[in-house]
Amino acid sequence: MNSWKSYPENSDFSIYNLPFGIFSVNGSSPRLCSAIGDEVIDLRAAAQLGLFDSLSIEPSVWDSNTLNDFISLGKKITKEVRIILQSELCKEDSKLKSSTDVFIAMNEVRMHMPVKVGDYTDFYSSREHATNLGKLFRDPDNALLPNWLHIPVGYHGRASSIIESGLDIYRPCGQQKPADGPPVYGPTKRLDFELEVAFIIGKESELGNAISTESAEEYIFGLVLFNDWSARDIQKWEYVPLGPFLGKNFASSISPWIVTLEALNDFRVSGPQQDPPVLPYLKYEGIRNIDLHLEVILQPENSSENTISVSNFKYMYWNMAQQLAHHTVNGCNVKVGDMMASGTISGKDEKSYGSMIEISRGGKETIKLSDGQERKFIEDNDTVIMRGYCEKDGKRVGFGEVRTKVLPAKK
Ligand code: MN
Repeated sequence: MNSWKSYPENSDFSIYNLPFGIFSVNGSSPRLCSAIGDEVIDLRAAAQLGLFDSLSIEPSVWDSNTLNDFISLGKKITKEVRIILQSELCKEDSKLKSSTDVFIAMNEVRMHMPVKVGDYTDFYSSREHATNLGKLFRDPDNALLPNWLHIPVGYHGRASSIIESGLDIYRPCGQQKPADGPPVYGPTKRLDFELEVAFIIGKESELGNAISTESAEEYIFGLVLFNDWSARDIQKWEYVPLGPFLGKNFASSISPWIVTLEALNDFRVSGPQQDPPVLPYLKYEGIRNIDLHLEVILQPENSSENTISVSNFKYMYWNMAQQLAHHTVNGCNVKVGDMMASGTISGKDEKSYGSMIEISRGGKETIKLSDGQERKFIEDNDTVIMRGYCEKDGKRVGFGEVRTKVLPAKK
């Protein structure tokens, strides 16, 4: 596929991608866009050229400040929008070519939350991560709990504090329990990130109806990078017996572009062999993992970037179809805009650990940064950046980045 629109060779936003997002420019109200190279594609302006007339989409959809209404049109329509855009960007006689207001430089726009998130679920689907954490929090010899190889373990998180890339967060405060004394209250001393990928629900299911692994992908609109911020000391004290709460719900940051499942099709790979065999409702056909290269970068204030983890979404033990089948097997319904995160993505190699608690082995070891500073966890004024892309046969489909700076705790 060849576009008349030129863009850098290593761009995340190639002709094969065409993700969806929400942007504003010069203080305008936020509206829908796609992207190619270093430019945003204003979808309202593209629609005004008549590009999508055959799809009879209400004009107000393009003016919405979230993608929820657009996604709710259904995959039949949203897939077609992307295909039309792709063909127009390749067609020599496209109306887009002479348009003066469809393309806007990315560095002139502000990106916003792409969806209004209804419910947020966080899974725990990386075997390596679950093993590493089990060793640190519980028992080095029996790290994986007995249910883990049978159930895509997860919990219900908090949607209100999911934020877009670029927003700063404050170091959270809460209760911690020193080893030799009563609980204390104060800023977390063990602030951590979690490298995750989240999928966004694109189709409503009915209460009481389970989604099968076979039909699961009809319900998945697309994916974002997801940084599930965690306060390990708060988490450690509070998590028994009901699981994560204030150690997790103060913030999760996402990348602004939703990369569609269709754009990721070429990068499918087989997942790890599942042994013991899973129950029938978790069995699946086809190739369900995605070879998505992931990086975590730590940048101290006024200093340079340090790549502290290189991982891959393909390592996931439980795939998205299994997660969704499990989530709904009891009749729990899902809604457009719901977000389901993978759980921290760690690989076997220690350079592929997806959280500081793993990298620093529970705070026992330090990592050295390029400017000589050391880290066990995330310090005030550090910025954590996650980037991700798929690449194969000269095609690159990327996510851009999710970037969050940590400000000192509020007094
Ligand atoms: Mn998580």
